[in-house]
Amino acid sequence: MKPVASGGTDTNSCQVCGGLWQLEYTRPETLTPYLSADGKLQGRNLTGFCEVHQQGLSRAVKRARELGLVPK
Ligand SMILES: [Zn+2]
Repeated sequence: MKPVASGGTDTNSCQVCGGLWQLEYTRPETLTPYLSADGKLQGRNLTGFCEVHQQGLSRAVKRARELGLVPK
């Protein structure tokens, strides 16, 4: 495990950093676990992602929405 440079109080439980998860907008099943029942993207406190991958998630969901792969 690599140390996080931020030095904040964040616990780094990011699954993408940990190699447990890949974010792919072409595979909505990798995104939907992070959407609430009404299709909203969950916050970092719920996803457990680091800032970088939370942004990546947000982008992937946006793109998947444009393609109609996840509900709007
Ligand atoms: Zn990460």
